[in-house]
Amino acid sequence: MAVDEGAVDLELDRAHSARMYDYFLGGTTNFPADRESAGKAMAAFPAVLVAARANRQFMHRSVRHLTQLGMRQFLDVGTGIPTSPNLHEIAQATAPESRVVYTDNDPIVLTHAQALLRSSSEGRTAYSQCDARDPERLLKSPEVQATLDLSRPVALSLIALLHFVSDGRSVSDGRSVPGGRTAHGVVEYFKDALPSGSTLTVSHVTPDFDPEALGRAVGAYEAAGTAVHPRTREDFTRFFDGWELLDPGITVTHRWRPDADHDLSQVTDAEAACYGAVARKP
Ligand code: SAH
Repeated sequence: MAVDEGAVDLELDRAHSARMYDYFLGGTTNFPADRESAGKAMAAFPAVLVAARANRQFMHRSVRHLTQLGMRQFLDVGTGIPTSPNLHEIAQATAPESRVVYTDNDPIVLTHAQALLRSSSEGRTAYSQCDARDPERLLKSPEVQATLDLSRPVALSLIALLHFVSDGRSVSDGRSVPGGRTAHGVVEYFKDALPSGSTLTVSHVTPDFDPEALGRAVGAYEAAGTAVHPRTREDFTRFFDGWELLDPGITVTHRWRPDADHDLSQVTDAEAACYGAVARKP
């Protein structure tokens, strides 16, 4: 995919959630406005760095596990700025034939999508610039149509995305989408559209452990123009209604099938601050 950076408005004068997250993970795809807002979020909630790392590692472990269970098609919505290892590198390390479609609505992710397209020769990767609140458009996109067989099981992941999507007015990262769906509406659409055997992986910020600190961090995002919608365990659990949760069910991200690669033993629930779970369509 050739991307003409000059044709894309990166809005460098305002903070973007994708670039703030990149900064928390130690990346270099962030600009002064992003770093200023990220600094305010860190002052409000110093554990945000731990939370970002625990979240990213939840992605690694969940993808590895799903690949071991036989999943070979992945659709990653709100994929973020490439941070190696990316999802396809993990899936293809176990199953080189894995096919992956990445999608995000942030123009900066589009300009870095090349890094997401270095597939194994046996597999395939694609990037589709789409807003998660319009899942019909995403599933009909040429990239999804050419890369995934939607009549066969798909591992859908919405990792650290849905807390940027409200259950009321549909505004995300300051952008609105006409007719855009709510967070639960987006998930229900995908759950209806994907065939039996598909899986749903979600991680999501919660106020359940340290509501005050989290409230301050949400305030820092809001001051930067990005609304955040932390959800309780009950609201998080509803995303999976009707699907079978894989072991160990709903946990905080660092507690989801911990392995020897990720030393998260010192992390507390209040620091990780995100629920994570994976479920399968019956
Ligand atoms: N999934 C990655 C990145 C999480 S950061 C990970 O967990 O490591 C959240 C990402 O969601 C950002 O890249 C942001 O641009 C994207 N995002 C936020 N709202 C979105 C929307 N409505 N549609 C698509 N992507 C969105």
